[in-house]
Amino acid sequence: MGDRTDPAGGGIAVADYDVVIVGAGPVGALLARELGDDGTQVLVLEAGPAAGRTWAEYQANVEQYLGSDAKVPNSPYYTPQYAPSPNVLDIRKLKDGVPSDAGYFVQKGPLPFSSDYLRSQGGTMLHWLATCLRMVPNDFEQQSRYGKGVDWPISYDELRAHYARAEFELGVSANVEDQAYLGITFPEDYVFPMVRIPPSYLDQHIANTINGSTVPLDGGDAKLLVSSTPQARNSIPNPDYDGGKGYRPRGAHGAPYEGLRCEGNSSCIPICPVQAKYNPLKTWEQVGPNVEVRTQCVVSQVLHLGKAGPVQGLEYIDYTDGAPPSKPERVTADLYILAGGSIENAKLLLGSDVPNTYDHIGRHLMDHPYVIAWASMPENIGAFRGPSSTSGIEILRDGSFRSDRAAFRMEIDNWGWDFCTFAPYTDVEAAVHGNGNGKGLFGSALRDHLADTVPRQFRFGFLYEQLPSRGNRVEVDNRYLDALGLPRPVITYDVDTYTRAGMAASRSLWEKLFAVLGAEDHTKFSPTDPGYLTHDGKPYTYHGAGHNVGTHRMGDHPENSVVDSYQRCWEHENLYLVGCGSLPTIATSNPSLTMTALIFRTLESLRDDLGIR
Ligand SMILES: Cc1cc2nc3c(=O)[nH]c(=O)nc-3n(C[C@H](O)[C@H](O)[C@H](O)COP(=O)(O)OP(=O)(O)OC[C@H]3O[C@@H](n4cnc5c(N)ncnc54)[C@H](O)[C@@H]3O)c2cc1C
Ligand code: SF4
Repeated sequence: MGDRTDPAGGGIAVADYDVVIVGAGPVGALLARELGDDGTQVLVLEAGPAAGRTWAEYQANVEQYLGSDAKVPNSPYYTPQYAPSPNVLDIRKLKDGVPSDAGYFVQKGPLPFSSDYLRSQGGTMLHWLATCLRMVPNDFEQQSRYGKGVDWPISYDELRAHYARAEFELGVSANVEDQAYLGITFPEDYVFPMVRIPPSYLDQHIANTINGSTVPLDGGDAKLLVSSTPQARNSIPNPDYDGGKGYRPRGAHGAPYEGLRCEGNSSCIPICPVQAKYNPLKTWEQVGPNVEVRTQCVVSQVLHLGKAGPVQGLEYIDYTDGAPPSKPERVTADLYILAGGSIENAKLLLGSDVPNTYDHIGRHLMDHPYVIAWASMPENIGAFRGPSSTSGIEILRDGSFRSDRAAFRMEIDNWGWDFCTFAPYTDVEAAVHGNGNGKGLFGSALRDHLADTVPRQFRFGFLYEQLPSRGNRVEVDNRYLDALGLPRPVITYDVDTYTRAGMAASRSLWEKLFAVLGAEDHTKFSPTDPGYLTHDGKPYTYHGAGHNVGTHRMGDHPENSVVDSYQRCWEHENLYLVGCGSLPTIATSNPSLTMTALIFRTLESLRDDLGIR
C-alpha cells in the first residue's frame, strides 16, 4: 500500500492506485480523507466542476442564486456542458403514455420522480437542508414487525456508535432530551456536538397550542409533541462534548470554510451564505496529500470479466466545456468505490453491463414523497426567519399502523408559502397587479398589505415512507444519451396505496391542527401539478424530497440484495457501492445521517482489505 512500483521489478501488473473513488460528494469526500490519512494512495474522479472552493467562487454561487428567477436547489451552481444535473424545473408528467425527456432524466413511470441532485465537487449536499435525524430502531425490522418492506442486515444498536461519529463529522446541533423517542437510545453521557438550534417563534406558538392534545393512533390516543429537529448547522459548540473537551466545528478556519454560526439568512436550500450549514467542501479542505482529485472526469465504464469476480478497472472521460471530450482513459486500483449517488451508481453499473444475477441493480428506488399543507395564522407569526425548519412532530414515525399504511413525520416550516406558491414574490405581484381580487396596490398601502399578510404565512411539510418496489427503478436505454454519448437515467416511478394511505392520515392531522390554531387553510392541489394524485377521492400533490434511496440495496444474501452490510458488492469483491443507494428501506428520517454512519462501518471493511489496522 502506498508504494505503487512493482516490488519484483517487472512482470506483475501493479494497479495505478490503492483505491479509486467515483464521485466527490459527501461520501467520496469522507472516504477519501479517511483513506488518505491512513496512507492509502487514492484517486477521486468527479464528473462535475470544482466550483465554490475559493471565497470568490463561493460568493459567485451566492450571487448567481440571488440573481436567479426560479430559486430552485440547483440555481446557484454552474452546469457544465458534459455533466448536466437533473433540475426540478424539468419534472413533467407522462403525456399520452410518451416518456418525458424534458431535462436530464427520462421519466417513463405513471408518476414522475420529482427529486434532483447536483454533479459538482461537494455533490448534492451543497444544496441540502441538513436535517439529521436518526432512524428509529423498528425501522431496521420493518418486515419482521409489520410485514412490510424488508429487514436490514444490521440493527440500530450496531449502528449507534457510527451515528455518533456521523454527528461529529457533520457537526449536528441537537439536544439528547428532544431526540430520545420511539426507542432511540444514546449512551448515558452522550451530548451532541452543538446545542440545539433554538425553536422559531412559529415552533413555540404551535408547541404552546398543540402539545398534549391527542390524535387517534393504534387503537388509542397519541399525545402530540413538537420536538426540535437535529441539524448539521452551526449553533453554539457544546462545552460538554467529548467528556468536557468541547466541540470545535471542523473546517472552521478561514474563508470559505469559515462556517459561521447560523444567522438566519433563510436560504439553506440551496446555499448558505455564511457556511453555517455543513457542506462537503469543508471536508475537502481537510483532505491530505495522498488523495488526488480529478474534476470534470466522468466515469463511463466499470470494466469486468462478464461474470462474478474482481473489477478490472474504470474508464473515464475528461472534458473541458466548449472542446470535444477526450477519448476514454483507463485507471486501475486494488479497490473501487462508487460514490456517485444512488441514481448515478445504478446508471453506471447498468451502462457497463455488469453481472446482475438476481436483477436488483437499479430497482427499489425510493424517495420521501413530500406533501405541503399551508395556511394563514390570525396574527403575525414571523414567517421567513431562520432555517427552513427547526421543529417537527416525530411521534407518528412508528407504530403498528405501519402494517397498513405509511408512517410519516411532519416538519413545521418557517419560510411561509415559498415552495407552495413562490411567496413572497407572488404575493407582491398579486398585490400590485391584482389577481382578480381587484387589488392594484402601491406605496404605503402595498407595504401595509404585505406587512399584514406575508408574516402570517406558515406551512407543514409531510414526509412519508415509501416501500421498496421492484417496479420503481432506474434503467438505461441507448435511445436516451447525454452529450458524452453516455446513458441518461431512465426512471419508472409510482406511489403505492400504502404511501397514499399515509397521506390520508396526514390530512386528518393537518386539518385538525389548522382548526386548533385558528388558521385559515389555503392548501390547493391541482391536476396540472406533476405530482398530483388522489386517494379515496381526495387530492394530493407530492414533491421530491431529494432523498434518492435504494437501487443497490444491502442485505444478508445476494438473492435479496446487491451489497452486503459493509456495502461490498456481492458479485465483485473489490467493488464497494457506498451511499443512500444501499439503504434497503427509507422509513421516515432524512437519509444522509444514516448514509454517513454507514460510511464508518464500510471503512472497517475497507481497512481490513487494505491491511490497515
Ligand atoms: C434539495 C435537497 C435537500 C436535501 N436535504 C437533505 C436533508 O435535509 N437531510 C438529509 O439527510 N438529506 C438531504 N438531502 C439528500 C442528500 O443531499 C444526499 O443524500 C447526499 O448528498 C448523497 O450523497 P452522495 O455522496 O451519495 O451523492 P451526491 O451528493 O449526489 O454526490 C455524488 C457525486 O458523484 C459524482 N458522480 C456521479 N456519477 C459519477 C461518475 N460516473 N463519474 C464521476 N463522478 C460521478 C457527482 O457529480 C456528485 O458530485 C437533500 C437532497 C436535496 C436534493
Ligand atoms: S438559516 Fe441562513 S445562516 Fe442559517 S444555515 Fe440557513 S442559510 Fe445558513
